[in-house]
Amino acid sequence: MNEKKPPQVRVVFEGDMQRRFEAIKDHYGMKKNADLVRLLITLKYEDLGLGPELPRFEQINSDNDGVKIHDRELHRVVDVFFKPQGIKCGYDQTDDCVHVDFALSLPGVKELVRKRRKEGWKLPDA
Ligand SMILES: [Zn+2]
Repeated sequence: MNEKKPPQVRVVFEGDMQRRFEAIKDHYGMKKNADLVRLLITLKYEDLGLGPELPRFEQINSDNDGVKIHDRELHRVVDVFFKPQGIKCGYDQTDDCVHVDFALSLPGVKELVRKRRKEGWKLPDA
């Protein structure tokens, strides 16, 4: 096989680049630097028209607290939060919207939601 190795990038941003990086990170409400880099690559890829049209939603990451979704129609990153009291979309402020539906369709999220339901969290059946 002649497959390329997945790129690994370690970049240190200082000075004005650091300021800009942090400003963009804050804008999207990102916690992890790597998530922001992934998002920026996706946005630039679309911007340059390098591939077929991409679906409206893309999962940027997920952890025990929720899912970060890139919504191409809204041009923003939307957080869907998991809490013991239930699931909530940070954009629509509801538990019943396209972002929650998308989050619950993700295989990794389904597993997590099932586990949390068994622990008594008021999450929808996924
Ligand atoms: Zn929503």
